[in-house]
Amino acid sequence: MNDNRALPIVIVGHVDHGKSTLIGRLLHDTGALPDGKVAALQEASRKRGMPFEWSFVMDALKVERDQGITIDTTRIRFSSDARDYVIIDAPGHAEFLKNMLTGAAAAEAAILVVDVIEGMSEQTRRHAFLLKLLGIREIIVAVNKMDRCGYAQDAFDAASRNVADYLAGLDLAAAAIIPISARNGDMIAHRSVPPSWYDGPTVLQALDALAGAPSEADRPLRLPVQDVYKFDERRIIVGRIDAGRLRVGDRLRFSPGERSARIASIESWNAQAAVSAAAGQSVGLTLDEDIFVERGQVASAPDAAPYAAARLKLRLFHFGHAPLQAGDAVKLQIGLAEHAATVEAVESVVDINDLTRRSAEAVGRNDIADVVVHSRTAIAVETAVEGRHLGRGILRRGYHIVAGFLVEAVLDAPQAAPVAGVARHITPVTSAVSHAERSAAWGHAGGVLWLTGLSGAGKSTLALALERELFRRDYRAVLLDGDSLRRTLNADLGFGEAERAENVRRIGAVAQHLAESGMIAIVACIAPRRSHRARLRHELGALYHEVYVKASLEICERRDVKGLYVKARRGEITAFTGVSDLYEAPAAPELEVGTDVLTPGECLEHLLDYVDRAFRPGDVRRLAS
Ligand code: GDP
Repeated sequence: MNDNRALPIVIVGHVDHGKSTLIGRLLHDTGALPDGKVAALQEASRKRGMPFEWSFVMDALKVERDQGITIDTTRIRFSSDARDYVIIDAPGHAEFLKNMLTGAAAAEAAILVVDVIEGMSEQTRRHAFLLKLLGIREIIVAVNKMDRCGYAQDAFDAASRNVADYLAGLDLAAAAIIPISARNGDMIAHRSVPPSWYDGPTVLQALDALAGAPSEADRPLRLPVQDVYKFDERRIIVGRIDAGRLRVGDRLRFSPGERSARIASIESWNAQAAVSAAAGQSVGLTLDEDIFVERGQVASAPDAAPYAAARLKLRLFHFGHAPLQAGDAVKLQIGLAEHAATVEAVESVVDINDLTRRSAEAVGRNDIADVVVHSRTAIAVETAVEGRHLGRGILRRGYHIVAGFLVEAVLDAPQAAPVAGVARHITPVTSAVSHAERSAAWGHAGGVLWLTGLSGAGKSTLALALERELFRRDYRAVLLDGDSLRRTLNADLGFGEAERAENVRRIGAVAQHLAESGMIAIVACIAPRRSHRARLRHELGALYHEVYVKASLEICERRDVKGLYVKARRGEITAFTGVSDLYEAPAAPELEVGTDVLTPGECLEHLLDYVDRAFRPGDVRRLAS
């Protein structure tokens, strides 16, 4: 027992590639098994005249569990000198996924086992995708059965290249790729018989080097309501904080819905009453007003609530037997809420082998697919990029779990619909010169740097300085200023909800065109709603780079460069962002610059540094090839 908390890990990979053998070895080599256990199993095998297998350790633990002798085999513990680990066994996909995707269990790291001779099978690829689905970013690859290929370096290299390439396609990277023999115990806890050509870590060393999932406490508050209890006259709202922090006196908004109230107390049964709590803790709260709250709603800060949306694009991993197709009725579980929904369209099915997509009518068993669903009721949701917990979930048909999913995009953000029928008669013309050609000629890639932030935070100032400096450094950079465009492109738009969305959509379309033409479009535009920005991210994909120009409302109001806050406070301007209209701060921008803590020069440095990294020639070469 070392570190105060055991790091939960999962071990995945194709059947027979050696997962159970590796677990048996890990337990034995770290001294986690009771004395004599292995000897007894070896003796039993001998008596039965069969060779001993390290996987018998797992089998024996399971038998003992079934007889009520031993602990739950779904949580097996072992320790290194550095910390404790708990292996979350994956007893069948559906149950495991349900636990993982609804927050009941949360592995933070994984060991992906691959047989060096058989290489990556389709099942291995699926498991890699599952890790992506579960949000597990720390992955150790164990290339197993090295004894069977005589520890040949070229065999290891070929296997590890394949795995690394595949993971890269999923935007994942292995923390270490290790040649092992689980059966012999090579390179697991001990550096026994290390091949001379390998000087990397053992499995245990690689585990010890993992950081574990970052704390969710610094992200926006998300508290899914598990139950509401009546106690005397009081109503106590109970749940586990998934992300962020709260304290007595904070105002909470309950999504979906508009209602909000302040925290009157944080209740506890035995300890002294707390005044604050953070991610990972279970709490019971009372509110200062008697508003209606129910199970499944999500409490957040009023200005950083999740979306309330009914139409979502999901990337799902489907393991149901019956094909899934447009028109099917399903249930979506996200957080603790369940919603009746309908599959609106199957957009594409992903080829698990090379991750390319093809169109399909239906999603088959074990397919990975992008589908659009709509629900009858509003769902408190985020995209998977924005929120670990509200950005993933499970899909049920009847009582069966048939898929796990990531929320790719929230589709029903207020948005101007294209005029019906018009699009059909249009033939888009792209360009005579490709992005890659321009990148090669200009020495950088194109993209959109979207500077969002309150009025007065410094977007325009920074954007101007950045444009000037990029010009000096030979970048093709163009400035699109939201205020200026309101005089021209968007002169017909006001500040209502739909008009704000349209304002952002139009600027986004222009910026996209510039970016696709190899230029860097610097956009200075508040884009106050997260849903609008999520839409941009969805439309622009990798071209979109969000920069949060951050300053507190108090500071912006004190600066009041354009005298607008004074007018807004006097009521001369209505729906002014930050005062009489909502600004929803980005949860996961690519870059954040705090203009209230950094000098303008420092902010500019951060931006330039980011541009150099994100659009640098190394990437350009990759794009062009
Ligand atoms: P699982 O289905 O992934 O749990 O695979 P097992 O751990 O049950 O292993 C499947 C088979 O591969 C068993 O017969 C093991 O003895 C064998 N095996 C596992 N690891 C090694 C290894 O490092 N070398 C060799 N030669 N065989 C292994």
